[in-house]
Amino acid sequence: MTTKDPESEHPSVTLFRQYLRICTVQPNPDYGGAITFLEERARQLGLSCQKIEVVPGFVITVLTWPGTNPSLPSILLNSHTDVVPVFKEHWHHDPFEAFKDSEGYIYARGSQDMKSVSIQYLEAVRRLKSEGHRFPRTIHMTFVPDEEVGGHKGMELFVKRPEFQALRAGFVLDEGLANPTDAFTVFYSERSPWWVQVTSTGK
Ligand SMILES: [Zn+2]
Repeated sequence: MTTKDPESEHPSVTLFRQYLRICTVQPNPDYGGAITFLEERARQLGLSCQKIEVVPGFVITVLTWPGTNPSLPSILLNSHTDVVPVFKEHWHHDPFEAFKDSEGYIYARGSQDMKSVSIQYLEAVRRLKSEGHRFPRTIHMTFVPDEEVGGHKGMELFVKRPEFQALRAGFVLDEGLANPTDAFTVFYSERSPWWVQVTSTGK
């Protein structure tokens, strides 16, 4: 898909570029802009939208597609809304313009990490729902602030909240990383996560 005829752009791409233009950049992300965008998506998709303010100004937004068997544990599709800062002088295109070149490349801070994923969740749900699909398990899309600075005012607090327990998450997806080859990178974990801390004393 090229920019030759902007009218012909796939609506998913248009939505992605809209979201990229919301300046949720650290250290002062426009979280209000992101929440407004997500509320509008919920309205258009016919999904419920719950907002949980874990710290003043730090809101988790949850869009929910109920399953046909709500007693089952749910699927969580998680993503963070903030992005890391930029050195604008090193960019060929404004990092918050979401410019798409004639080759189809979209330039923006957040295009890989991870607004692409948020929009992929939303557009996959939109498509499945509009085509009449139903699934036993409820799907929650959770959009969290603060990931790029450790999540201490985001997911770290959210998982302790009763609203999080009420989601009854059975399985979660979140970001991976880009892969320059034809393969895809998946972070794999089962049972209890294995975190190893190595302390080097230099002696
Ligand atoms: Zn990320």
